[in-house]
Amino acid sequence: MMPMAQALSVDGIETLNTAVAPGERRLAILGATGTIGRNTIDVISCFPDRFPVEVVTANRNAAQLAKLARAVGAKRAIVADDAAYAALKSYLAGSGIVPEAGAAAMCDAISAPVDTVMAGIVGTAGLETAYRAASSGMTLALANKECLVAAAPLFRAAAERSGASIVPIDSEHSAVFQALARAEPEMVESVTLTASGGPFRTWSRAQMATVTPRMAVQHPNWSMGAKISVDSATLMNKGLELIEAAALFPFAADRLSVLIHPQSIVHGLVGYRDGSVIAQLSAPDMRIPIAVGLAWPNRLDLPSKRLDLSDLARLDFDEPDRERFPALRLAESALAQGPLHCLVLNAANEVAVDHFLRAKLPFLKIAEVVAEVLERFDSGASIKDLSTISDVLNTDENVRKLAGDVCRRFLGA
Ligand code: NDP
Repeated sequence: MMPMAQALSVDGIETLNTAVAPGERRLAILGATGTIGRNTIDVISCFPDRFPVEVVTANRNAAQLAKLARAVGAKRAIVADDAAYAALKSYLAGSGIVPEAGAAAMCDAISAPVDTVMAGIVGTAGLETAYRAASSGMTLALANKECLVAAAPLFRAAAERSGASIVPIDSEHSAVFQALARAEPEMVESVTLTASGGPFRTWSRAQMATVTPRMAVQHPNWSMGAKISVDSATLMNKGLELIEAAALFPFAADRLSVLIHPQSIVHGLVGYRDGSVIAQLSAPDMRIPIAVGLAWPNRLDLPSKRLDLSDLARLDFDEPDRERFPALRLAESALAQGPLHCLVLNAANEVAVDHFLRAKLPFLKIAEVVAEVLERFDSGASIKDLSTISDVLNTDENVRKLAGDVCRRFLGA
């Protein structure tokens, strides 16, 4: 039987099945101050000899970054925002940890002796560093789904050239990976990603019209950063994850689907041609997929939340409602149309979510902004060539400008 890694590498991306050798991994933790970053530090703190940390990064939260850098004994700490450099330097005084700042320093950090990069920056702000890891033959532990949504073909090509492994950290993709085990792709009939449905799963559109940022970031099962929490509430997160799954696994969109599963216990399912379905279950605890990603094919002895099935009265599954949650439909349609539409969807969504979080756009308008930007970008003159990372970044910037205009118009400004 051909191992899945081989099959996947034909598609450009080698995922977890590419054996991550047991033993030491030298880490760069990008977005160390965020939810993924802090969960990663939680995991590796249990195994300090196995995961020495070379670099930690943040955007501008210098105080927290310095604290984490000291805790893990990092060699370098980098803030993306130059304005935060002075604070970082003073917080690190006497530690021996080198403070740095700026985009170039962030990219330079992705170099030897680092061999594994935890990509936990939110949004396309993390694209260049993740791409550098994919181009440098490293193991890219990818939480930052937006960069794969925006530039999957480039990541695939870069990983193929460099021999990099792209390891999914998203719990659903980690679940699918684990359920795929060593299957031949031809034997797989369906891949299902589950979605909790978010805090407004049962709400009407009229009720959702009253949603505030504070309400949207309260996820029922997971504790996550603000942007992904809003994406979960609109179901755009599941749409981005479908696009991510199409990039990571060798299955066309017609074999990928989404099921609402409010308990967030079953994270992903793989249906085989003989009628078997293999699912991965765990408590909703991001430390578990992070540990899987860092240790595969081994398992870490992790003090994570344990699943007690006898405690669970039931597990529910349902079809998503694309009328109440149109963002999912938009993402499915972008996936069908190709990489440019995925990029546009992602950038427009980032801008709309940012406006919503700053109380400058109503919740229900997020999907409307994305729909309008997709439509206008489709019919207008646009850059269609996405063959380099600069093409992607330029197009991303153009979409952001358009999305900003659309948001302002929705506000009547
Ligand atoms: P958070 O908002 O909690 O953290 C974001 C991190 O990125 C922070 O360290 C932040 O630094 C840094 N950052 C923000 N903007 C920039 C920038 N312009 N340049 C450099 N660094 C920046 O996000 P999450 O941890 O929740 O999510 C991170 C990624 O992981 C997202 O793509 C998300 O979709 C994905 N993901 C998250 C999951 C979760 O459970 N949280 C689950 C699966 C995937 P600072 O603190 O200085 O602002």
